[in-house]
Amino acid sequence: MKAPDGNKLAILHALNQGDFISGQAIGEQLGISRAAVGKHITSLQEMGLDIYKVNGKGYRLSRPLSLLEQSDIEVAYQQLDGAGCEFEVQPIIDSTNTELMRRLQQGKVHNNSVLVAEMQKQGKGRRGRVWQSPFAANLYYSYYWRLDDGMHAAMGLSIAVGLAVYDSLKALYDLDVQLKWPNDVLVNGRKLAGVLVELDGTAEGPCHLVIGIGLNVAMPQTSADNIDQPWCDLSEFCDDINKNQLVAVLTCFLQKRLAQYQQQGLQGMYQQWNNVHAFAGQCVELSSGTSSWRGICEGIDEQGAVVLRVDGQSKRYFGGEISLRVKS
Ligand code: ATP
Repeated sequence: MKAPDGNKLAILHALNQGDFISGQAIGEQLGISRAAVGKHITSLQEMGLDIYKVNGKGYRLSRPLSLLEQSDIEVAYQQLDGAGCEFEVQPIIDSTNTELMRRLQQGKVHNNSVLVAEMQKQGKGRRGRVWQSPFAANLYYSYYWRLDDGMHAAMGLSIAVGLAVYDSLKALYDLDVQLKWPNDVLVNGRKLAGVLVELDGTAEGPCHLVIGIGLNVAMPQTSADNIDQPWCDLSEFCDDINKNQLVAVLTCFLQKRLAQYQQQGLQGMYQQWNNVHAFAGQCVELSSGTSSWRGICEGIDEQGAVVLRVDGQSKRYFGGEISLRVKS
């Protein structure tokens, strides 16, 4: 997909004011021709944005979009008594996680930095998989966190992050999501969000963590066609989604869960996680490379390992590279 340039973003902001706006008026605002406006609008439409035209009136978005604004995020965060995080909004980026990792290598990232983007050109899932990240549609969020207790202490962190997503969606929209080990957020078995924790560090020294969250807000069909498993977006369940508020709330809950994690690991959290576990009591298959194991999924333990009942015995499986699939 071709990335939108600054003019397309400006056109989108003009359209997002709500009323019809003519190509002529947009062109005058941006200092470009009406024909150029028309071309940009066609390519925004090709990217899945629902913009329509009425002769004599101009262009309009079929529904208002929630666009990211740094100042709105900061205000919402302060209203929640949030403190300690710095926010940055990028229109388009390769991947918010990759960017924070890059800054980390260059020594240019502060602890508790949050980076969000309107679009990722190379959104990532685990093991090189693609995270669909169309423009102005969903939330692409990364948080940098430094943990001084060595890499081992970071095992199981995606459990705490999943709970922070759960807390946020419950608080904002009264939405009950389920969590899938180790890193997915589902509604009725369909994927609403994914978590990707990347780390850099040594066994004993400080551990640098980049916590990525991709959360579907209003997925256009063109991108949905590229997702090869059941998915959903927030717009199916809630109205008036404000991405800036979502960023602020998510950040506050994430800070709380990270602090809790730092103090007690998953001790106070794993049972909560088990209460919202997507596949509790179901027959599942775990796979890693060429190995796979089947059993009844019992949940997770206090270390964040998934526990399967196999031949009458409980067995624990741990590791960032294991996939879990439900088997009927
Ligand atoms: P695992 O169980 O191993 O985590 P997974 O399929 O959930 O498997 P992830 O790496 O977590 O893998 O996520 C990437 C996968 O998620 C993609 O291969 C695709 O199937 C799906 N996917 C990609 N983009 C989206 C999106 N925006 N919303 C929902 N699902 C997506």
